[in-house]
Amino acid sequence: MPRRRTLMFLLGTWPTATAQRVRRTFVSAASSVWLAVAVSVAGSFEAVAAPCSGRGVELQVLGSGGPELEDKRASTSYLVWQDGRARILLDSGGGSAVRFGESGAHVTQLDAIFFTHLHIDHSADFAALIKSSYFEQRDRELPVYGPTGSADFPSTQQFVADLFDRHRGAYRYLANFLQGGEGGYVLRAHDVVLRAREVRTLYRADGVTAAATRVVHGGVPALGWRISVGGKSIAFSGDGNGDNGNLELLAKNADIFVAHNAVPEGETGAARQLHMPPSVIARIAQAADVRQIVLSHRMLRTLGRESETLAVIARGYSGPVTFADDLDCFR
Ligand SMILES: [Zn+2]
Repeated sequence: MPRRRTLMFLLGTWPTATAQRVRRTFVSAASSVWLAVAVSVAGSFEAVAAPCSGRGVELQVLGSGGPELEDKRASTSYLVWQDGRARILLDSGGGSAVRFGESGAHVTQLDAIFFTHLHIDHSADFAALIKSSYFEQRDRELPVYGPTGSADFPSTQQFVADLFDRHRGAYRYLANFLQGGEGGYVLRAHDVVLRAREVRTLYRADGVTAAATRVVHGGVPALGWRISVGGKSIAFSGDGNGDNGNLELLAKNADIFVAHNAVPEGETGAARQLHMPPSVIARIAQAADVRQIVLSHRMLRTLGRESETLAVIARGYSGPVTFADDLDCFR
């Protein structure tokens, strides 16, 4: 069963929007096919996502893409479900609000929202989610946690105020979401301030624990998160170059390590300063001894290079690896 998608991959029937591009790559490069076979047999193998079952703790990928619209994927967003209830939303990139609706989740169900950072591909649909919830019957506070600010970025508190503050917010007509009152519950924003090398629990309520650590994403204030609920832990790399040693601590023994596949192996320059290549993903996953890797934040520069990515990861990590598509579920 874990090999099913690998086999479909090789047979050219991989059911994704990128199937044709991937298939062309494989047909034209027979050696890549044999490389994928070798990877499946010898090291990391590509595992399979499944629909959400509504039982136990499940990770659903709402957005598996990066900022490029040409990838035909929603930008970054994840839901953590427990027994069919959407408990935690992590990031809300462009397009992900539609996927949120498609997933069957409701904002009323959410305990909290966490942001890794405030780039557009991680935050653009936040206001759309909040507006949608106007038509739900949520009456409890909704905590929102994210990074502190910098010269180029608002803090998370400022970001929420930039949207909904009664006087200066772009969507000031929805100011009741900061104040409560008619049509609005209270959005409570929190800035996460951490030392350079620290993993700290920042949220603990009703059986959910969330810890964060700083990751290096150029000069962008950025976090990795670990959500623990129901005896399961899911670590999210967020966007980062993987070089500061924090993700190894954050992801220690995680059931799922969601790693962002934004650059191929060998990438140099600014892109490498911002993102971790497959060999770094493997190194972190192996050091943290995670149970599986889910690769998301797939971009045009990594789509179509799945076999190469698997081969590189297999050299450093021996567990299962899955390429995420929108709405895939993992447990
Ligand atoms: Zn991103």
